[in-house]
Amino acid sequence: MLKDQGLEKVELHERADVYIVNTCTVTSKTDSEARQLIRRLRRTGPGSVIIVTGCYAQVYPERIKELGCVDYILGNPDKARIIECIRAGRTSEGRLIVSDFEGGTPLTLRIRRPSARTRVNLKVQDGCNRSCSYCIIPRARGKSKSLPIADVLEEIETLIEQGVKEFVLTGIHLGGYGPDLTPPMDITGLVRTIEERGYPARFRISSLDPDELTDELIEVLSSARTICPHLHLPLQSGDDKILRLMRRPYTAGLFRQKVSSLLESVRDIAIGVDIMVGFPGEGEREFLTSVRLLEELPISYMHIFPYSKRSGTVATNLPGQVDGKTVRQRVARLKELDREKRLSFCRASVGSVRKVIVESTRDKKTGLLCGRTENYIPTLLDGDDTLMGKEVMVRLTGPAPSGMRGMVYEKTEAFKETSREAAG
Ligand code: SF4
Repeated sequence: MLKDQGLEKVELHERADVYIVNTCTVTSKTDSEARQLIRRLRRTGPGSVIIVTGCYAQVYPERIKELGCVDYILGNPDKARIIECIRAGRTSEGRLIVSDFEGGTPLTLRIRRPSARTRVNLKVQDGCNRSCSYCIIPRARGKSKSLPIADVLEEIETLIEQGVKEFVLTGIHLGGYGPDLTPPMDITGLVRTIEERGYPARFRISSLDPDELTDELIEVLSSARTICPHLHLPLQSGDDKILRLMRRPYTAGLFRQKVSSLLESVRDIAIGVDIMVGFPGEGEREFLTSVRLLEELPISYMHIFPYSKRSGTVATNLPGQVDGKTVRQRVARLKELDREKRLSFCRASVGSVRKVIVESTRDKKTGLLCGRTENYIPTLLDGDDTLMGKEVMVRLTGPAPSGMRGMVYEKTEAFKETSREAAG
């Protein structure tokens, strides 16, 4: 939309006519980072129009207005009014345009220009109907809203024509996809429909709560040709008492059962896990219960989040807040376990042949081509730029610092030794 208005993107440190700050409010730290950035931008561009939007603007617009240097504060449902604000120009004081989510805003945001990327995030859902006790998102994003399936398919087809090879289906709470549509749908139906279309692209599901992973979805994944064998499951804690305090609607036992079903049914699947450390009430015993569960299950990697107090959430006032030193020690312990999990998942795939979509930029550290396998292993390859954006068959030769090294498998049916390391 901005390009259509004749605007051009400049670097953040440059003076611009307009700055648009899309904020996050997931922790108090992100709020403070947003405030710092806004002040810095005003110093860089004393005469610029500054527009602040996103979740912090939605939940705490007055706090942004108090900074005294912002022209417009737009809520999440109001982002489409950015152009109107740019046209109106500077204001003497911050103008608040923050709608609530009553009735839900239709989800229509589209990506039409993937800027030469081979992989794009396709946002099919926004908002959340759950109320996890640590999370501010329902206040920042409102009730769950889904992109109608016909729009999803149209978007996929348009982007495939533009050269996109991989889609990541995303949402604020992706597992909440569908019930608001007419006729109602669910995430399994969406994934099944995409798979049945047999598109010349591959698809990843970004994240699903464990209780939303149905047997039907596991069945779709087990025989899928275009849906990647990769799932990310936010466990958050492996202790049932903590899960209850978090208001997460599943138990550690259910999580274990889902992971086992996935491993039994979906060949080579990579399972990533989110885990939160230091939630109020997490003593040594509860933490060790989580560690044991994670140690036992052959998951592929973890994303570890230290719990951080978020004002406006139920968890802020819970007893048993964990001190910072203990949280850091627990994070360090889990990071070690994460390293072991990643390494053992990679080791188990040495010698296997996988499809890798080569990214359009080279790995910054090594200058090698890079991409990911269907089961999400970062892979480094020798080769020239003509491979960029292509899907190639690759034999994985051995672990690299953050993934695997691989050799491109040529159409001649012979493996070409393209890795100097492997040749040695
Ligand atoms: S399901 Fe996710 S987005 Fe929704 S309240 Fe819980 S943590 Fe927040």
